[in-house]
Amino acid sequence: MLEQKLFQQLKRIASSYLAPKELARLEEAYNFAKLQHGETQRESGEPYITHPLAVTIKLAKSELDPDTLIAGLLHDTIEDANTKPELIREKFGPEVEKLVLGVTKLARIKLRNSNRFLPQFITRRREEQQAFSRQVESLRKMLLAMTDDIRIILIKLADRLHNMETLDAVRPDKRARIAQETLEIYVPLANRLGMGEIRGQLQDLAFPYIDPSEYTRLKKLTEHRVNEKEAYIKRFKRVLKAYLESEHVQVLDIHGRVKHLYSLWRKLNRYQSDLSKIYDLVAIRIIVPTTKDCYQALGLIHSRWNPLLGRIKDYIATPKPNGYQSLHTTVFGLDGEIIEIQIRTQQMHEQAEHGIAAHWHYSEAREAKQTAQQESQDKIEWLKQLKEWQKQLSDPNELKKALQLDFFSDQIFVFTPQGDVINLPAGATPIDFAYAIHSDVGDACVGAKVDGKIITLDTELKNGDIIEIITTNKKHRPKRDWLKFVKTHKARSRIKSKLS
Ligand code: MN
Repeated sequence: MLEQKLFQQLKRIASSYLAPKELARLEEAYNFAKLQHGETQRESGEPYITHPLAVTIKLAKSELDPDTLIAGLLHDTIEDANTKPELIREKFGPEVEKLVLGVTKLARIKLRNSNRFLPQFITRRREEQQAFSRQVESLRKMLLAMTDDIRIILIKLADRLHNMETLDAVRPDKRARIAQETLEIYVPLANRLGMGEIRGQLQDLAFPYIDPSEYTRLKKLTEHRVNEKEAYIKRFKRVLKAYLESEHVQVLDIHGRVKHLYSLWRKLNRYQSDLSKIYDLVAIRIIVPTTKDCYQALGLIHSRWNPLLGRIKDYIATPKPNGYQSLHTTVFGLDGEIIEIQIRTQQMHEQAEHGIAAHWHYSEAREAKQTAQQESQDKIEWLKQLKEWQKQLSDPNELKKALQLDFFSDQIFVFTPQGDVINLPAGATPIDFAYAIHSDVGDACVGAKVDGKIITLDTELKNGDIIEIITTNKKHRPKRDWLKFVKTHKARSRIKSKLS
């Protein structure tokens, strides 16, 4: 059976870095999740459990800690199998419970009405476009506000990746929305966290659903070009390696890399679709032991093959904001053919492919040995990256001192029953929410529900709450009492003016 095969694969990967005791826990979690999902199937008709298994295999490939793997196996049990969080805590501990609850909450972050923003529906009225970018920005902020542990995001990204890999089995009318959401929310997130590999995969998986004809055209076009180049790359690699080693630069690895289709498409749009101007369609990547070797290799290459002016980039001295480091150059290579070469160390390569996840590698030995200094180094790295992400958002509050994710602790993000995101100050109440929707809704408010349950009007709202306002048709005026607990200026001033 497929699930058995997948579980064996997971065990094989995990056993390379986990102790037998932890593997046993993993197996227990697998059996538990399987039982919880029961006969449920995915839209593809496969048993549901195959999905969490596939997600957890991805997490194990990044060598993440046992709790993250277990949470990967359980990540849909609360949402889809109505498993009680308490049961998860009892069986697998509070850490796992926290992670699963975190992933469950993120499931509420959905892009709405996105179809008409796809290229093939260019209605693009200005207001619509602005409303759309506001929504996207709220969702991105919300994603961070609702996450207090980086591992929740790592699980969510693996989850999204597998959902994109299996998007074909999903109802056609849902595909475009999910693909668009992936590009707008999860790709920038992966990018900010420096996870280049997963970013490229997500983009390429979304591309055919965003613009099918462009995707097909580009795929054909590049396949032809790449095939043409293959023999050339092979020959040039041999020459390069022999040359560098004869000059005493050790080459740990040298490989050709083909540009991801989606980023190629974006680049083509910038270059008026002239493929002959895209020199990095195929590039050669050289991995050397040290930073010094990187510069030495670059010098040697330039002394033999002329570089193209303006195409030398030193991302080692000035890394990209997400931590990416490498030397790039484009040269007139063998037979004068123009080709891009990237040079980096093994560590830079890890960072470029796996970003933040590379800092979360788990090993018992390392765990025990890891000094406080190393740990804070990792955290600082993580903070730096989030700071960058936050800079991109339009309303940068002063960076909080907190170590992990409470950047937005003075704001909360809640939903309307239709899934619109409303941004409120921390401590805001249903009355603030009602006035944020519309002042008439505020005036007519007689009650409120959170996640379907009636709450009092002075209840403090929490991140991720879905709020329904109960209004009356009768003439209704705001109550003086409300002034005691409302938090927003908008609500306060409207209530006052109505009362006077
Ligand atoms: Mn899932």
